[in-house]
Amino acid sequence: ETEQHHCEGCGVRIQTEDESRPGYAPSSALKREHIVCKRCYRIRHYNDIAPVDQDPDVYLQKLQEIAHTDSLVVLVVDIFDLAGSWIQGIHRHIGNNPLLLLANKIDLFPKSVKWGRLKDWVRATAKELGVDPIEIALTSAAKGEYFRQTVEAIEHHRKGRDVYIIGVTNVGKSTFVNRLLKEFGEEEEYITTSPYPGTTLDSIYIPLEDGKAIIDTPGIVRKDRMSEWVTPKELQIVMPQSGIKPKVFQLNEQQTLFFGGLVRFDFLEGEKQSFVTYLSNRLYIHRTKLEKADEIQTKHRGSILTPPEDPAQLPKWRKHRIQLNGKEKQDIVIAGLGWIACGQDRAVIDVWAPEGVQVGIRPAII
Ligand code: GDP
Repeated sequence: ETEQHHCEGCGVRIQTEDESRPGYAPSSALKREHIVCKRCYRIRHYNDIAPVDQDPDVYLQKLQEIAHTDSLVVLVVDIFDLAGSWIQGIHRHIGNNPLLLLANKIDLFPKSVKWGRLKDWVRATAKELGVDPIEIALTSAAKGEYFRQTVEAIEHHRKGRDVYIIGVTNVGKSTFVNRLLKEFGEEEEYITTSPYPGTTLDSIYIPLEDGKAIIDTPGIVRKDRMSEWVTPKELQIVMPQSGIKPKVFQLNEQQTLFFGGLVRFDFLEGEKQSFVTYLSNRLYIHRTKLEKADEIQTKHRGSILTPPEDPAQLPKWRKHRIQLNGKEKQDIVIAGLGWIACGQDRAVIDVWAPEGVQVGIRPAII
């Protein structure tokens, strides 16, 4: 067997020798019309996912190649998790190629949000990171909102060139590419989508009519997001799937919120004030007094306070002391989880999150 096959689900090169390595398929699978690797087969048919170890260098190398091409680069970000969506040093990787920023998952935001303001915020955040997009396209790959406009923007800026689609894992890159395939030609959904890091293992080439191509690159894993540390089953709870319903908590000082058992929020000092959580609707939030919090944590983390089912699988909690200045409204952001919109009052808060998970503050976006 000398012919090379690639998995139609994730693009990885098919091999028949080692079941523990990416791209394994039994030799019988090579006779099928549509060849997928064992991993994609399992994801599709059993919703069962085997994580594959990624070598970050390989992915960065693939990105680096883009700098030597003449192309349009589409960076897909999750607008609900912008902090967790950036690729470090991206301006270096893409060279002089223009970048279109595709801000996905807008369906998660309340319908009342001011899109113009949100777009300004995305642009300002991009600028801070040294990126100056030629356009910001807000869209929902899952629901199709503004999908046409987004495709038109890509076509407009492509100017006869190849299109590279890049992004970190779980921003909805595969969902977007699948919608492209569905709307423009291909009948079946081939690319494997899954709420788990690293589903697409190799670049996938989608030929365009003018001889150019859309190149869907593998998602880059960022371990500083909460979403990277839960099991695939728990990710269904942690990662919002449909419109977020913000929850308002009127808290007195010395009160605590637990977000499942993933993050603990201690309101230490300040006037009574409201905190609004923008988190997956499915995540259980437990409210208690600070003086009781340690005991509850010891007794119930992993049972009532879940996910995680097994706290030992997470890095140890690290404390982030946050001082709200009382001047402007601010959000406390936990990458890969969501954010807490705070009021305009002064407050001192401790956020406990697994070591390595990014916690920060920003001016309020809603
Ligand atoms: P990839 O790793 O970037 O290729 O991400 P996927 O396309 O596999 O999607 C990751 C998760 O995000 C899946 O659970 C999708 O259902 C979900 N998702 C993708 N696009 C959207 C969207 O526009 N809105 C919402 N709410 N969820 C989305």
